[in-house]
Amino acid sequence: MPVRPIVKYGDPVLHGPAEPVEEIDDSIRALLADMVHTMYAAPGIGLAAPQIGVPLRVIVIDLSVGEDPSQLIQLVNPEFVEREGQQSEEEGCLSVPGYGGTPTRAARVKVKGLDPDGNERVYEATELLARAFCHELDHLDGLVFVDRLSPLKRDLMKRRLRKRVREGWEK
Ligand SMILES: [Zn+2]
Repeated sequence: MPVRPIVKYGDPVLHGPAEPVEEIDDSIRALLADMVHTMYAAPGIGLAAPQIGVPLRVIVIDLSVGEDPSQLIQLVNPEFVEREGQQSEEEGCLSVPGYGGTPTRAARVKVKGLDPDGNERVYEATELLARAFCHELDHLDGLVFVDRLSPLKRDLMKRRLRKRVREGWEK
């Protein structure tokens, strides 16, 4: 279960749509294991496959960051079944380190997808878990939290990020 490098804002894999997984085989289960390991090492509460450079519709979420095994969610081809209401809280992203924002998210979501064994799983979520689902599913559509900010804040942050991308993230 190697920790994979997390790609940063500006990498094309983060800004385009990810492909559905055709079949859940050992390579997908290995991808999920690497994603969980990488999320815990970061540490973070969620990770989408494009964030490690893999353009597939796969996400992991664990609000306990490894403290409580029952909270680990691993989903292949997740999609919203229901979304309602609104909430706004500060968010960050492992692919946009050092920046934060307050995007508008759904207050309650119902998400379905496939677990690592290929069984359908349905999750209902509010508060932080709902925000995490919205954030990670956005990654699968090539969107980061910056894209969900108000136009003024979005444009300001994008200008700063473009400069950051030009200079290189590692500095
Ligand atoms: Zn993110």
